[in-house]
Formats: sequence, C-alpha cells, structure tokens
Amino acid sequence: MLATDAVPAEMEELDPDQRTALDALVIAAIAWCSPEGQARARARLLMECHGRFERACGASGKGASFPDFLDRLAKAPVGELLPGPTSRSKLWNARLLEDDGSAAPILTRLAMEASEQDQQVPGTGADLRHLHSVLRALGKLPSGTRLSRITAEAVQHAVFRALQQAGFTAYTEGRHALITQPVLARRALARHTQLVDLGVYTAISPMRQFAGWWAPCPFCRWTMRAVPRGRHAADLSCEDIRHTERGARFRMALQEGQWRLTPAGGEIREAPQLRPVEGQVALSYGLWQWIVLPGLLEVELKHRAEKAGAHVHLWPYGDSYDLHITKNGVTWRVDVKTWADPQGIAERMREDPEGCAGLIVVIPEHLGGYVGVLARVLGPHGARVLTDVSLIAEVSTA
Ligand SMILES: [Zn+2]
Repeated sequence: MLATDAVPAEMEELDPDQRTALDALVIAAIAWCSPEGQARARARLLMECHGRFERACGASGKGASFPDFLDRLAKAPVGELLPGPTSRSKLWNARLLEDDGSAAPILTRLAMEASEQDQQVPGTGADLRHLHSVLRALGKLPSGTRLSRITAEAVQHAVFRALQQAGFTAYTEGRHALITQPVLARRALARHTQLVDLGVYTAISPMRQFAGWWAPCPFCRWTMRAVPRGRHAADLSCEDIRHTERGARFRMALQEGQWRLTPAGGEIREAPQLRPVEGQVALSYGLWQWIVLPGLLEVELKHRAEKAGAHVHLWPYGDSYDLHITKNGVTWRVDVKTWADPQGIAERMREDPEGCAGLIVVIPEHLGGYVGVLARVLGPHGARVLTDVSLIAEVSTA
C-alpha cells in the first residue's frame, strides 16, 4: 500500500502538536519545491513555518535551527521530524520531498489537509484557493473554515447536490463530463451551462504547465505535473502514482524547434499531444482527486459488471449512490470510494442513516487493507464493504 492512500486515516491518529508540526512541514515543503513566487516571500513563509514547527515541538527535542530545519525537511522521513509518540504507519516512513527537491506524491495529498496558511502557498495554493471558492460559492463552507475540515465527502456532496438542481438529465451529463473531460477548451465549457454555473473549472495550474504547454495523463486525461529540468526540458507525470507507474511519465524537450514529449517508461508507448495552456480550463486538484478518480472507477465498474451479464444504472436517483446493479433477481446498490477515510464516510452515513442499509461500499483493490476498519464503522449502519475485485466476482457468480 502507498503512503498517499493512508493519509486521512492516519491523520486521525496524530495529536494536536503533531498535527500542527505536520501542517508547518507540509506548507514549508510546498513553498520549498514550488517554482512560483518571489524568493523573499518564500523565505518569509519558510521562516514562519519554522517558527510554528518549533512551537509545536516544544520541549520534545525535535526542534532545530532554521538551516537544520530546511536540511531535515529535504531529507528526513516524516516520523523523524514530528514530536511526540512514534507510530509504525506508512506516513511515518514517507518523505515529503524527492531527492531532486520536487514534491513527493504524499506532499500534494497532505497539502489538501494542511490548514490556515494555505492562502499564502504558491502553486498548490492556487488549487486550494479554487476548491475553497467553489465550496463557498456552493454554500458549503463558511469563510475561515480550516482546510483540514474539508473532506472528500463534503466536496462530492456539495458539487453533486448543486448539479442536481439542474434536473436529472443535466445532472447525469454534468457528472459524466466532469469525469471524462477534466480539462476543456473555454469555448467547449460554454456548452455545459450547468458546469459553468458551478465554477468548478479554472485556469491550468502553473505547476502543471511548462513553456505555455500542458499534456493530459493517458489514463485520467487530467493535467500532468511539470517539473522543470533546466530551461529547455521538463518531466511531466500524473499526480496519481499508479498512473505514473503504468507509464504516465514523459520528458518534454525541444526537437527541431518544436516542443515534444517522449515516454519515460511503463506500458505507454505513444506520448499524448502537447496542448496550449491558453484558452483551456481544468478542474483543480481536489476535484480531480475526489470526483474524477472515483468517477473513473464508477464508469469502469459499470463496464465490468455489464460484461459479467448484469444490468447497470450509473448514479440512479441523483446523489443517493453510484451504481445500481441487477442480475438474476439480485440487486447491488454500490457506493464507490477511492480513499480510505472512515471518518468522512461515517459522517456522511450519519447524515443519511436510512440511506445506507443494504448499501455496498466499494473501494479499489489496492486499498483492500482498509476493508476491516471500514466494515467496523459502516457495519452497524447496515452497509457492507467490498473491493472492486470481490464485487465483480459476486456479480459474476450470481
Ligand atoms: Zn492520471
């Protein structure tokens, strides 16, 4: 299992000082690796993070001088930096920055959970600000809410509820468009009035473009992260580590005066087309993470269940659940989750206790280790927890 999958559940185990220290480390790491912003502003932000980190460490002996803080930020795993009791969790062994100083996948995920100083963070900060403004516009987030209070559940709920107001057909079309077109030409967006009103699309993040160009991940079609390698080259890769491992990673360089992508490994042989940043809009990180990624699994499960001989409805009855599967008189009501956040899922279940009796919560196979803990939270509400593989196995044998 990857550290990024474990984040929400493991964050729950941190004590308040560890949480404050981690927030300071995350913001410092983002500021450290972000190409944006003035040097002086970044230095000031780093120093402020150092101060917050020191206060959180108190007398724990984990405090450090400013240069030492930066050095450990770049090299040490999270567990060596945090004050208080240690844990054997994956998060403890994870590093926030790669050897070359770029953001590790867990850093982006953690940045979504970091609090309070988000408005000052360049790069990822733009994503966070956008998510904030979408939620505020949808009336789901009083101003001043700590980012750590934003859960995947809250984001999905707010966006889907707002889409529903446009009516059932517009809802289904809008949700499908969000999943399959996470980046759009501004002109194409104008055709989806329900999405224009939501304000979910925004300019392409400076962290996901280079020299005025961006490229879609071959698996999720969202903007890949661009890490400059000098002025004449960049490495592009998907923020989803599984997509990167399968081949969503490319080198961008000039060839005969033209920018071109070449594959940097994995199963992908043909690089996607570079596209101009100008005139295009994209979903921000949070919406990609919490709407596009689960959405791709929902759409894929529909195809797999149909191949297994079932009849499938995507997103029946609006926002109540994701897939309605029937075969030979057996019915599965399925809710898909691509993150292991028992707290967030349980909160949502409490909001609608009747809705989850007989519900099946499906998580991807790589999160199989969370089936037990989720089942303990959801079992009393009458819901079952399965991985996608076991769901399809059940449907096949019905
Ligand atoms: Zn991807």
